[in-house]
Amino acid sequence: MDKTELLRSQLLVLAESFRQRLETDIPALSDLARSLPATTEAPIEPLRLLRDSLHKLAGSAGTFGYPTLGNKARELEQTARQCLDQRSWDDACRQRLIDGIDELKTMQKAGHSAQGPNPQMAQASVQPSSALRIFILDDDPQSALRVAQTLESFGYVVVTFATAAKLTPALEHDRPDALVLDVSPGTAGHGLLESIQRLQATWNQPLPLIAVSDQESFDIQLSAVRAGAQGFFIKPLDLAALENRLERCFNSFQSEPFRVLVVDDDIDLAQRFEAVLSSADMRVETVSDPRLLLQHMDVFMPDVILMDVNMPDYSGPELAQMIRMNDNWLRVPIVYLSAETDVARQMAALLKAGDDFITKPISDSVLITTVYSRAQRARLVSQALARDSLTGLLKHADIKEQVELEIERARRTKLPVSIAMIDIDHFKQVNDSHGHGVGDNVIRALANLLRQRLRKGDRLGRYGGEEFVAVLPNCNAEDAKTILDDIRAAFNALYFSGSNGAFQCSFSAGVSACQALGWEASGLLERADASLYQAKAQGRNRIVLADSGSDIP
Ligand code: GH3
Ligand code: MG
Ligand code: MG
Repeated sequence: MDKTELLRSQLLVLAESFRQRLETDIPALSDLARSLPATTEAPIEPLRLLRDSLHKLAGSAGTFGYPTLGNKARELEQTARQCLDQRSWDDACRQRLIDGIDELKTMQKAGHSAQGPNPQMAQASVQPSSALRIFILDDDPQSALRVAQTLESFGYVVVTFATAAKLTPALEHDRPDALVLDVSPGTAGHGLLESIQRLQATWNQPLPLIAVSDQESFDIQLSAVRAGAQGFFIKPLDLAALENRLERCFNSFQSEPFRVLVVDDDIDLAQRFEAVLSSADMRVETVSDPRLLLQHMDVFMPDVILMDVNMPDYSGPELAQMIRMNDNWLRVPIVYLSAETDVARQMAALLKAGDDFITKPISDSVLITTVYSRAQRARLVSQALARDSLTGLLKHADIKEQVELEIERARRTKLPVSIAMIDIDHFKQVNDSHGHGVGDNVIRALANLLRQRLRKGDRLGRYGGEEFVAVLPNCNAEDAKTILDDIRAAFNALYFSGSNGAFQCSFSAGVSACQALGWEASGLLERADASLYQAKAQGRNRIVLADSGSDIP
């Protein structure tokens, strides 16, 4: 079953369960209204109960495809609220509520489902395959070859095209993950920009496009942007910078799915949100007992929290304030889901804590878009704070923490873990001969290469200036050495453009590993460092394995 079909069938099940719920809930409301006494004093408790039930119904009915019923419920909620606020109560009020709820009953019997579950979902993002494919169109075969070789050394699969006539059908029928296009005036690529712009409009996910040109011109850049370009580079190309930009284009697609925590006491609604968001490739968990909220967050580490405003014993803003009391959770966006349309009350909730409001009934596309954009932004901000600005890798303290966590995990799972300490050779000379800026490019290129070549679960950090640490869980020392040696060869084959022409670089690395039981984090790092020192002493551009670490219980 494909994803849209799966979602459609899930939504149908949920819609059916909601329909059944209405069959019991609305008669119960009717009983409640009829039991209100015809006294002169407003019956506070039953009225509150009625108001809250109507509020809940107003929120959920529209979302489940009963907009008229939802609007009526909202109107009745207002009536109940007014009676409560003004403490005005008479037989006319009572009758208005009874009649209104009878209308709800009629609507429910008539099956006021306007459109039913909405299967037209925002298309879920495409899962990346392990090797990303890049198409290149460049009139200059030499230049195309150089770009292709460099990108291949970063682990991409590259296909070069000599003419637009060959590229166009390939784009339509065999879409790559990115396109590098020479758009210099008079080239085939320049002529293609308009048709690429049209093609982009037909795709759900835009195709990452990098434009390269032999001249800098406003008009060319504008056409490139209109065709969806996310980067613009002038020839001769700085390939490290180009690769860096490609990497950034992919990051948003490649990263782990966003995690969304739903806090709502209405199980049907929560399940519906879960189905809709999961269909857009987000991971969703629901907390129906708010007392377990903070514990749940520590385990699930949500990127966004969707928070109901009105729950029986606690309010959304109260829970949001509890979350904000904890420094670890200052960055996670809290989006209220509410049947609350009163702007003043929305403002009051936002002032306490929280970032945004979505009002029920909620359309599937609004839900997906709001949650997605909030999650994306939150990830970007956390990355900017926790990551090294030059390379985007973890900073010194964070990678050290990851080393400890992975060793701890290895101890639990009884699987091996390897640590590599990597240092660029004679890097001072690079800076001295070509300047600090070129040196920075080399550091970035190595960071990108490591990121490309290591597995998803591996951890990578910039330990110091031109020193990196990689943690490879579930990888023994010999395998780690082989992996690092492949990366060493690829790095050594790269050409960088410097002030005095092209040059090459190399790195050395020390690898240490532990088998489940022993070795403190510091011990393992020290042994990798000692092996790195040996690699330098033995002539650099090599990987040295620490003596196989015996288990120390
Ligand atoms: P070895 O092969 O022994 O590692 O020699 P090396 O020259 O690489 O070693 P050393 O540690 O003496 O030099 C590292 C240099 O890296 C010194 C420092 O100026 C430079 N460096 C540190 N951080 C950065 C950075 O962010 N950017 C640039 N361009 N250079 C940096
Ligand atoms: Mg060095
Ligand atoms: Mg160094």
